[in-house]
Order: sequence, then structure tokens, then C-alpha cells
Amino acid sequence: MSKVMLELSGITKGYNLGKPNEIRVLNGAHLTLKAGEVVALVAPSGAGKSTLLHIAGLLDTPDAGAVAIDGADMAGKADKIRTDIRRNGVGFIYQFHHLLPEFTAAENIILPQLANGVSQAMAEARALELLDNVGIKDRADHRPAALSGGEQQRVAFCRALANEPKVLLADEPTGNLDPKTSDQVFEALMALTRETGLSALIATHNLELAARMDRVLRLENGVLVPA
Ligand code: ADP
Repeated sequence: MSKVMLELSGITKGYNLGKPNEIRVLNGAHLTLKAGEVVALVAPSGAGKSTLLHIAGLLDTPDAGAVAIDGADMAGKADKIRTDIRRNGVGFIYQFHHLLPEFTAAENIILPQLANGVSQAMAEARALELLDNVGIKDRADHRPAALSGGEQQRVAFCRALANEPKVLLADEPTGNLDPKTSDQVFEALMALTRETGLSALIATHNLELAARMDRVLRLENGVLVPA
């Protein structure tokens, strides 16, 4: 039995509760993500994908239910431990790359490692290895503005993996790219995820990409159901 890396149990989340404009986004969502598993999360816009990913990534807290990362229940943890796991246990990729514009591709991957206490030499070696894995080692010294959209997003993957997270969460990671680039970038993401044995939950509108993952879950009426 492989290890469970991310477990969501009975997650509920709503906004403006008790008011006329109440929205119940999540309504008892369950998820079990095993080690090395890559799961697609599909649902129409507004269904609550970002809300679910933010809760899984400890960027937001649920109204009820539990989040466990690598077997550790996050509810009882002190803020310092939650912050540490949010920074290092979970890698997050957004639709937009959010790279620091004044730093090079390599520096964007090195900085989070230095903040985590890794030496400059080790951080640099890992950054170049990650860039090599996604096929853009030769762009290491370019700033984000000098990279294409697909290259920027590859650097964002590398940054998300810089501190060897246990779980990768991605919110429409290829949503901003044209179909051909989206396909290539998705392949790079899958290869990198497989190479590192990472568990990933990837929200996407693209059903063709979703079908290439291990499992597809649909967010429907606030719960996750097999697609
Ligand atoms: P998705 O990522 O699937 O597009 P979201 O998780 O962003 O969906 O949003 C789910 C629903 O929750 C939407 O109706 C959205 O308007 C609402 N929502 C999200 N964040 C807030 C907030 N901070 N306050 C009020 N409503 C919100």
C-alpha cells in the first residue's frame, strides 16, 4: 500500500454564511492522494477549484473538515509549523508564473532554497538540474521578461519543486498558454513530476490533459466525484 501524501476529509467552505448572498463552495469534499499519484481536478469556473487547492496548500482554512499532509493532521499544528509546511511541504503553481522580474530564471529557483537554509552552491546545482529536466537549462541566466510564456511556466514548476515538496498543487498551470505550448509544458510538468515521484493535484479545464493523468476527479456541488 503506498503512502497517502495528502488527505482531505469532509472539507466545507462557504462565504457570507448566514447572509442573503451566502455561497457554499465546498460541502464535505474528500480526497486521498497517494505517493507518486497525479490527479486531475476538473470543474467549471466558479465551482471551487481554487478554494479547494488553497485549503489543501494551507493558504486558507476550511470551515470544517481536516487536511493531512504526509500523515500529519494540520488542524492542531502551531502557526509556525503550518507556515513551514506551506513553504516547504507543498509546491504551488498558478496560472500566471509570479516569478520575480528582477531575478534570472536560476535565481528565482535558488532564492527559495537559500531562504530554506540550503547553501548557494547546492541551490545553484539544484536549480540547473531542474531547469535541465524541463529542457531550458540554456535559459538559466534570462530574466522572466526575456522568456516565452511556456518557458516562464517551466521556471515556475522548477521554483515550486525547489525545496523538494511532498505535494504539488497546480491551479490551471497551462491555462494561459496556446494549445501547442500548453501541451509541451504539460508534458514537461508530467515528466518532472514522474522523475521526482511527487504527488500532484492539478486543476485544469482541458479534458484531454486531464485524461493523461492517473485519475480525474470532478468537483460537483461541493464534493469530489470520480469523472
Ligand atoms: P474556481 O477556481 O473553480 O473557478 P473558486 O474557488 O475561485 O472557483 O470560487 C468558487 C466560488 O466561491 C465562486 O462563486 C467565487 O465567486 C466564490 N468566492 C471565492 N472566494 C471568495 C471570497 N473571498 N469571498 C466571497 N466569495 C468567494
